[in-house]
Amino acid sequence: MVTGYRPTGPLHVGHWAGNIETMLALQTDTARDCFFFIADWHMLTTHYDRTDELSGFVRELMLDWLAAGIDPERATVYRQSDIPEVAEMTLLLGMITPLGWLERVPSFKERLRDNAEREIANLGLLGYPVLQTVDISIVRGDLVPVGEDQVAHLEISREIVRRFNRFYGDVLVEPQPLLSTTPLIPGSDGRKMSKSLDNAIWVRDDEESIRASVRSFITDPQKVRRGDPGRPEICPIFALHRKFSPERIDEIEAGCRSGALGCADCKTILADRLVEDFAPYRERRADLADTDGIVERVLDEGARGVRPVAEATLDAVREAMHLS
Ligand code: SF4
Repeated sequence: MVTGYRPTGPLHVGHWAGNIETMLALQTDTARDCFFFIADWHMLTTHYDRTDELSGFVRELMLDWLAAGIDPERATVYRQSDIPEVAEMTLLLGMITPLGWLERVPSFKERLRDNAEREIANLGLLGYPVLQTVDISIVRGDLVPVGEDQVAHLEISREIVRRFNRFYGDVLVEPQPLLSTTPLIPGSDGRKMSKSLDNAIWVRDDEESIRASVRSFITDPQKVRRGDPGRPEICPIFALHRKFSPERIDEIEAGCRSGALGCADCKTILADRLVEDFAPYRERRADLADTDGIVERVLDEGARGVRPVAEATLDAVREAMHLS
């Protein structure tokens, strides 16, 4: 099982409820080898002009992971750029990937559109799916956790693997999606929670900041004051309650619909829960941040763990392509 993460900023609640909880569950399954990597080369596809921030982002993300409970004893945790085999295999798979496949990937056009003021129409961004395919294939990943909105992204990796195997024999493993059961977590504006949309609640925030973020969320616009009946199905606060207050969900839904529960009180219930749930994480993170050399040690061990696997895969690829 393999999953990676671009080091572009701190963890938000959407990450926590999606990837992090999945990673924590998978790493306890002793039947699986788990590979968790920090995708710093992927970050360059859109942030090549901010490389001075990269090592700091990698450190912050590793501290986030460790504080959340990601365990380097149970999973191989590494940084993509520590594995030079990834670069060579990306070059080789790039040779067989049709340009049309890359150009039709929706996220390529979306990123260009969302960053219209910046020059990111580069080979690196266009070739992102090839690098992603190598990230998975080089550790022989056969399972990739994804949200429903990301299944299409994995499909191109499956196509590239099939094409390689058609040309050179059955060398690479075709990855399968492991669908997340967590529905999309909305942000303060009702859209998917995301750093770039500036609508997130940050897991590492102190109590007052978490409360302020929750207060900033939109709710059902028809419910102006307590007593007005609400529609929880369209309210992002209710979506967060589903995830974080499941034992109170019937009571909250009934209170919203009848009008007995006001939005301010409903938000307070959610903020109390988030503050309580994330307090241990914040404490662990502060301790880890004070531990000398912890990030470097984990990265060193991770690179030592993954490189033999990557070398073996690359050897098999070279041999299949008559390049050995
Ligand atoms: S009461 Fe809660 S669920 Fe209902 S609209 Fe207000 S914030 Fe949303």
